Amino acid sequence: MNDIIFGPVASRRFGKSLGIDLSPGRKQCNFDCVYCELEPAKPMDHYEEALSVETILSAVKEGLKEHPDIDVLTVTANGEPTLYPHLAELVEGLEAIRGATRLLILSNASTIHRPEIRRVLQHFDTVKLSLDCATSRCFKRIDRPADSVDLEAIKEGMLAFRQEYSGALIVEILVVEGINDKPAEIEALDAYLRRLRPDRIDLGTIDRPPAYRVSPVSYEKLRRLSLLFDPALSVHIASRRDIGEITPSAYSDEEILHTLSKRPLTAEDVAILFDKASRERLETMLRKGQIGIRETHGVKFFIPA
Ligand code: SF4
Repeated sequence: MNDIIFGPVASRRFGKSLGIDLSPGRKQCNFDCVYCELEPAKPMDHYEEALSVETILSAVKEGLKEHPDIDVLTVTANGEPTLYPHLAELVEGLEAIRGATRLLILSNASTIHRPEIRRVLQHFDTVKLSLDCATSRCFKRIDRPADSVDLEAIKEGMLAFRQEYSGALIVEILVVEGINDKPAEIEALDAYLRRLRPDRIDLGTIDRPPAYRVSPVSYEKLRRLSLLFDPALSVHIASRRDIGEITPSAYSDEEILHTLSKRPLTAEDVAILFDKASRERLETMLRKGQIGIRETHGVKFFIPA
């Protein structure tokens, strides 16, 4: 039973989180992403083995009893959690026992075109959906989905969900060298995400050993790619890989404002990119009201006032 619950994991964005793995025994996913941290596996359309709702809920109750100070319950899987066949019933059970704990789900978005899945996801405080590519060829190369998965249906489903959902919608893009790191792919994502308007976009890369022989990109590359997105979108560089290669630079007041107008920066970005004097300059500008802060679900961005 205990392999269902993992953590707690402390996250600056979500607080103290307890993970719920809906497929602890084996990988069950309708994708076979090149970057997956699990072993490669043939994608499947539905779970071949599913735990009962009672088993999962009793593991969660035990976890909450052991860790009463949990901020968030994160529903995930060794695979795709929305393929779990009793998700609606499970979420109903979680709502009954969660108290003040928030609910988060991490999904590959493959089932978001189904109205019944969207209805279940509305019960979560935060829904984090993956979207690595907005073009079909790139999507198939990176996520290696089951034949039944259709990127256009996912994109339409996400747009419908955005209309229906009032919680925090976060989109995660994982960048893999040589696949979705080309400006044309990022521009296609940007065109789509400008329509979707998620609350935040997490731009990351491979941090753990991947299923296939693929490579991550550097922080510097993520940063360059982040500049291709519309500045109105809150893009958070979620990976700190290869930071060592970056030398902090000096920014004048004008350069700080210009940089923030092109891409709002997080405090973490500022700590990496700005030298000490520039960080102090930014603090002063913040105090004078020339710079403001936009907070999107746990991540603070500096923006021009
Ligand atoms: S969606 Fe997640 S679990 Fe499924 S293959 Fe991709 S990374 Fe692995």
